[in-house]
Amino acid sequence: MDEVYLDYNGSAPLDPRVAEAMLPELTSGIGNASSVHRFGLRRAAAVDKAREQVGALIGTRPSGVLFCSGATEANNLALLGLAEAAPPERNRIIISATEHASVRKPSQWLHTQGTAKVDVVGVTPGGYVNLDELEALLGPDVLVVSVMAANSETGVLNPVTQAAEHAHAVGAMLHCDATQMVGRLPFNMTEVGADLVSLSSHKMCGPTGVGALVGTRSALAQLSSIIHGGAHERGLRSGSLNVAGIVGLGSAAAICSTELHTEARAVSRLRDKLVAGLVEALAGDVSENGDTSRRLPNTASIRFCGADAEAVMHNMDPVAVSTGSACSSGAIEPSAVLLAMGLSRQAAFETVRFSLGRFTTEAEIQTAIQQAVTAVRYVRSMTEAPS
Ligand code: PMP
Repeated sequence: MDEVYLDYNGSAPLDPRVAEAMLPELTSGIGNASSVHRFGLRRAAAVDKAREQVGALIGTRPSGVLFCSGATEANNLALLGLAEAAPPERNRIIISATEHASVRKPSQWLHTQGTAKVDVVGVTPGGYVNLDELEALLGPDVLVVSVMAANSETGVLNPVTQAAEHAHAVGAMLHCDATQMVGRLPFNMTEVGADLVSLSSHKMCGPTGVGALVGTRSALAQLSSIIHGGAHERGLRSGSLNVAGIVGLGSAAAICSTELHTEARAVSRLRDKLVAGLVEALAGDVSENGDTSRRLPNTASIRFCGADAEAVMHNMDPVAVSTGSACSSGAIEPSAVLLAMGLSRQAAFETVRFSLGRFTTEAEIQTAIQQAVTAVRYVRSMTEAPS
């Protein structure tokens, strides 16, 4: 049986067109992009083109794009960098309960260091941030509100525009981890009103290990660097630029700019087919987590009642999916995202995430349905079997 990859939210495969765009930089690109000789200038021009491509994809000016190693670094830079430079009277950060670890952990770190107080705003059972709760938490001491655009586990979209309006009403900034949304659905940071946006190349069929923090002029002016060195990227992210990776991110962004709408339609049709196939074969024992009317076109978070998701996932091989469970101190912990939405531990342990993308085919969906149905039936039969 052929391998089937349905873990695009973990990392999407590299588009061969992106690889082709990167190849000259990898094979014959010479020099440091910050050198002023002709070699350096040539590399800087390639970086500038990528800056334009990324800016165009998310509706902002190229000079606001700071390249870095990925969304983990971008999120750390946004939160630690703002906190470092903040005036003492603005020392509170609000994050949503379903943020990625790369937003949660630096916030917790700031909290334990005593640099900032952190409040966590809850989400509705549908999985999106509770705006009433956010509004109640806001005050003149809030520095930044961090709300992700789309959740990696459920695909549920947050009301980022409204969150930004609420944040701005008290003079706070809005940081948006748009890693899962950029390139999959239209995301224009100017229209949304986000001050800082994190994105990552490998979620949009670009290379891994490169991403960007994108900011408005005013937000970048209020940011401190967290990596100190040669003052690259407007002094906010030192380190010689990964030119091939950046060119790859730019190329991936340009492809998304032209193909996003068609791809979203095709991928959501396949995702819906997958869900329908599972529901039909497994009757009433399947349900979807999160508000399905507002989510990414490629994601389905599915609970198979009575079947442990880790066991289902392993029995589905060679179809690759994922669960939101995390291994912490040797114990398997249920997904914090699903618990925050009010799901029981059992429901969380029975949830599998399917995430599709650009190269997913109809035939792969049929294989995935067949493998998932067989795996779920097998796991259930093992659970039910007398010992
Ligand atoms: N934020 C979100 C929402 C993510 O899904 C991920 C990747 N799983 C990250 C941040 C981290 O991205 P990177 O791998 O580029 O560090």
